[in-house]
Amino acid sequence: MTELDSKIELKPKCVSDKEPALTAEGFFLPCCWCDRRNKYFIEKGFLNKELHISNVNDIVSEIFNSQTWIKFFNEIQNGNDYPSVCKEHCGINKITNKKIIK
Ligand code: SF4
Repeated sequence: MTELDSKIELKPKCVSDKEPALTAEGFFLPCCWCDRRNKYFIEKGFLNKELHISNVNDIVSEIFNSQTWIKFFNEIQNGNDYPSVCKEHCGINKITNKKIIK
């Protein structure tokens, strides 16, 4: 964790009102801002074939309640292993209480 990270508090909009995003390739991501194909989401398994929309019968139980998604939501609410896109869009400066970017 960098010095800047220690000053950032995450207020994840996907926990309250931001919807998951379905990519053109058929994978769900936690929100549309995550659709950058960044290394984090590949490494964490969001683009694994078992989570492809064509390979599930029940999106809620098989994708949104998968270990991949549960771990992600746990990290953004209680941990610090989340991608830079979350910091950029949902990060609040703890000192000024302002958004990191608008
Ligand atoms: S940027 Fe990250 S924390 Fe913010 S809504 Fe999207 S997935 Fe959630």
